[in-house]
Amino acid sequence: MRIAVLRETAPAETRVALVPLTVQRLVKAGHELVVQSGAGERSFFPDADYAAAGATVLVDGAAVLAGVGILVSVQRPPRGLLQELPAGALVIGLLQPASAADYLTAAASRGLTLLAMELVPRTTRAQSMDVLSSQATVAGYAAVLVGAARLSRMLPMLTTAAGTIPPAKVFVVGAGVAGLQAIASARRLGAIVSAFDVRPAVREEVQSLGATFVEPAAVSAAAEGSGGYARQLGEEQQRNVLLAIGKHLPDMDLVITTAQIPGKPAPRLITEEMVATMKPGSVIVDLAVESGGNCALSRPDQAVVSKHVTVLGPVNLPGTIPQHASLMYSRNLQNLLEYLIKDGRPSLAPDDPITGPMTVARDGPPATN
Ligand code: NAD
Repeated sequence: MRIAVLRETAPAETRVALVPLTVQRLVKAGHELVVQSGAGERSFFPDADYAAAGATVLVDGAAVLAGVGILVSVQRPPRGLLQELPAGALVIGLLQPASAADYLTAAASRGLTLLAMELVPRTTRAQSMDVLSSQATVAGYAAVLVGAARLSRMLPMLTTAAGTIPPAKVFVVGAGVAGLQAIASARRLGAIVSAFDVRPAVREEVQSLGATFVEPAAVSAAAEGSGGYARQLGEEQQRNVLLAIGKHLPDMDLVITTAQIPGKPAPRLITEEMVATMKPGSVIVDLAVESGGNCALSRPDQAVVSKHVTVLGPVNLPGTIPQHASLMYSRNLQNLLEYLIKDGRPSLAPDDPITGPMTVARDGPPATN
């Protein structure tokens, strides 16, 4: 199977879909890899490493796509590029299908099949292909670093000749994939960490990372959805959650919010009034900013300062750590490709438990080499 990697075109995208290590494994498995020159440049994987891994490196994008069976990407490839792909080809990446109805129709009418990486089901079988989880892990780690860099205090306790510095207090709201990694990272930096989540199942995980779990009384089994995700809360429970968070905020230095409910706007958990109760110099990092924000003041990729509190809404934190974010994305893709390609051809049964839900556009016969 001929598998292609193009240079990402989105201005802020620094990641690459396949890193040389994965390319080498795919080549060893018998695939032909074609990589556009410079594809790995912004994540510090030079062309020479791709060539050494067995890929053909070409400058011209059209040449990369000639005869391709599968195009893999991080972001949704530009629409014009669909015309350059051979009918029957497969496109796999973070395609944002919810905001791309016309794009998907155009792709299907070109005879292309599109698999959206954000729709990998959160099941045990598909865990190794789950890019949302791998990238959320990177984001949870990066959120602590970004927040710490803005803070007017250090995170660890220090005992020095100049006296003892008390540790900073970090509060993580939402203890899913990103939240748990944020807890672990803040603990490694020596902060006192507390966390809150509406799902009772995560309490033990939070505690096992050395953080305290805030207000267990506000937690309810009714908030537990399927696949490790949360359900939307009823009005009364939402009020209890806001009260629980509000009571805890005034004593915090760094707050990292990661609460999400799949397919819904981010739950609003920190109001402007609550921000006003926080200590001067404290920082909020809102990871859910793209889906509307957990904090009322967060704005995509902006630092909003309100009453001496800084609210950050970074949009692509994995892109700030491109080498490892790409490595993890690439391994997820490799696992998917190994699952998908049977006897040299992609096998795309509509009822497949993994690729079925990921298929957002479909037409033409399965792509072959
Ligand atoms: P996840 O589903 O694993 O975790 C979300 C957690 O929020 C769950 O544990 C859930 O129970 C909890 N939650 C839901 N409603 C809540 C509420 N009302 N109060 C408290 N907790 C609540 O999701 P994830 O993969 O960890 O991603 C978290 C967020 O980070 C998402 O919004 C995702 O889009 C975002 N994200 C941002 C970046 C970035 O660079 N900005 C990168 C990756 C992920």
